[in-house]
Amino acid sequence: MRIVFLGPPGVGKGTQAAQLQALLGVPHVSTGNILRAAIQQEGSPLGREVRRFVENGRLVPDDLMGDLIAERLERKDATAGFILDGFPRTLEQVSILEGVLGRLGLALDRVLMLVVPETEIVRRLSGRRTCPKCGTVFHLESRPPAAPGVCDECGSALVQRTDDTEQVIRERMKVYAGQTLPVADAYRAKGILVEVDGFGEVEAVRSRLTSGLGRV
Ligand code: AMP
Repeated sequence: MRIVFLGPPGVGKGTQAAQLQALLGVPHVSTGNILRAAIQQEGSPLGREVRRFVENGRLVPDDLMGDLIAERLERKDATAGFILDGFPRTLEQVSILEGVLGRLGLALDRVLMLVVPETEIVRRLSGRRTCPKCGTVFHLESRPPAAPGVCDECGSALVQRTDDTEQVIRERMKVYAGQTLPVADAYRAKGILVEVDGFGEVEAVRSRLTSGLGRV
């Protein structure tokens, strides 16, 4: 299965993709996680280059993202499939992805788009806490860690993403509406977009997503 996950920031893509990865046995490729790891890694040239974009909620330039995604999808573990989370985010990235997959003789199976009301997004983002080490996502109300501030999976101290502040959230929503919604339209036109209601419990959304996988 080669799947793209679409949806606004905070809609639950990361949480759902991590669960689907276990279910489908294909890697969860999150461009946001890759960029954040590079930023945290001392001396990383990629990290230096992308830091100011990520921290301000702006998109990293398409050519840089294209190199990154080509390198990732050409790795052996992605040949049987992948769940792409956070890419493509622009129409140019749609073409880049098509080019990379075309060279590998592959094509996308589904584009799953999670949809929730905007008030819910603000609630989710402001309560979100993430593990900087293993990437597990928690929420202060709906998915609190067993011990406050500590990752259940690896014991690291949880952090609030620096781009989960009100001002940056607003910028990310603007970027999504302007640049990423046209991506959904492009996939709708290709007939592979499935829209899924992302409101409610994680398990309920997951079962809607898995039934969406069988539907186009
Ligand atoms: P995410 O974790 O997917 O919300 O991504 C966090 C940030 O990483 C975004 O706000 C962008 O600054 C950057 N980013 C992630 N994926 C992309 C992409 N496909 N194109 C450009 N920038 C990206």
